[in-house]
Amino acid sequence: MNDTAYDLIVIGGGSGGVACARRAAHHGARVALIEAVRVGGTCVLRGCVPKKLLMYAAQIGDTLREAGGFGWQVPDGAAFRMQAWQAAKAQELKRLEGIYRGMLEQANVHFIEGAARLDGPGAVQVGPRRLTAPHIVLATGAAPVRDSIPGIADCPTSDELLDLAELPPRAAVIGGGYIAVEFASMLARLGVEVTMLYRGELPLRGFDESLRTRAAEALEDAGVQLRPGMAPLSISHEAGTWTLHLADGEALRLPWALNATGRRPNSARLGLERVGIVPDAQAAVPVDERGHTAAAGIYAIGDLTARHNLTPVAIAEGRALADALFAGGEPQIAVGQVATAVFMLPPIGTVGATETHALAQGHTIDVFEADFRPMRAAFTGRAERCYMKLLVDVADDRVLGLHMIGADAPEIVQSLAVALRAGATKADFDRTVAVHPTAAEEWVLMRTPSRRVSPGEVR
Ligand code: NDP
Repeated sequence: MNDTAYDLIVIGGGSGGVACARRAAHHGARVALIEAVRVGGTCVLRGCVPKKLLMYAAQIGDTLREAGGFGWQVPDGAAFRMQAWQAAKAQELKRLEGIYRGMLEQANVHFIEGAARLDGPGAVQVGPRRLTAPHIVLATGAAPVRDSIPGIADCPTSDELLDLAELPPRAAVIGGGYIAVEFASMLARLGVEVTMLYRGELPLRGFDESLRTRAAEALEDAGVQLRPGMAPLSISHEAGTWTLHLADGEALRLPWALNATGRRPNSARLGLERVGIVPDAQAAVPVDERGHTAAAGIYAIGDLTARHNLTPVAIAEGRALADALFAGGEPQIAVGQVATAVFMLPPIGTVGATETHALAQGHTIDVFEADFRPMRAAFTGRAERCYMKLLVDVADDRVLGLHMIGADAPEIVQSLAVALRAGATKADFDRTVAVHPTAAEEWVLMRTPSRRVSPGEVR
């Protein structure tokens, strides 16, 4: 075998690509992984990890503000310094990148730095080198959309926000999805005056309606000014001022604005035309449920396929594909009940069907709810609440979905996702003894449904 022939070439060194490459190498495949920028991808370098580190900074602000109520004397003048956070973040990302590179080395994956392009079936061009493999996995992820609104092209995205040396005094957040909600919530706590503009009535389209309402309330409680139904028609920028032209004729002027209007697959420079793959209208690479594209021997995983844009899904897809190609494993992963979180404050955790989906699927459901002020907030008189919703199929007592907004919701829902995956019934929840005193104990103490709803019934 020559040194440019591999069993598998993975293009893209994000979570999905790295997971796929390592798993294939573990099965004995000779693997090359090509990455143009830094190893780690969106999640480690520009997404989940730095975002969560900023969320911790925001949360510590909350803790400082409530510390007095718990008997602490906190000196006046506590202030957040973005520059200090940046320095610490850079160190941490360098450490994580080192771990990723080390993991590839340890797995015997050949790491190649450069921009890769498909060069016909079974071949990839990286700079002057032409590599070959019977299997090629495309895992190049996605990047912020920069053409959603006229004039938005130069508007900073979460990539730039996470690299700011200083936070602006005031900012517009444009969009109502994951990124908009998370950053609006954090920025407000870090002292930025935030106006959030989105085109729907509520943020977080697709989430359970009860969570959406409460998320909007939580943002308002944090001081975010909400402008529903008011995404800008166009945006202009001049001399440090962003002007957002709104449908009602208003021109909103702010020193900073965040484009959080979604992400688009990085499919443009992959040479897809050379192998007969045609991206869809959203620029996603079409794949079947096994991750196979229209071209034999070429596969795609993660955000590039725009199916379920979440890091753990990309990792599961990458591993399943490597198992299928090199170890005769299951050719697909079941993504039906993927838990997800929105790291606003308080955060959201959710898994399974929303109330709307459950009804649309024809289930008659009992809706159990808990809505309370958690002990910690009640003690200091803070307004923060905790809300939980459990949806139970009346026909067979199965739990179809559970949704929470409140402290630690992502941690709690991750564990409950196992119960859902295992097919837990409401009786199983009832039989489980509570851990006291916790907020999570409410999940096993809900006795009476707040309502029973059937498909077609208007609430
Ligand atoms: P989302 O798809 O979640 O949200 C995009 C938002 O932009 C929506 O509110 C959408 O409105 C709005 N929008 C889109 N086009 C326009 C337009 N032309 N004018 C006005 N508004 C527009 O994308 P994000 O960028 O927030 O996040 C990208 C993906 O990354 C997410 O889907 C998620 O999968 C992942 N992610 C996951 C996180 C997590 O797990 N915690 C955190 C961050 C990102 P509408 O709803 O009306 O279409």
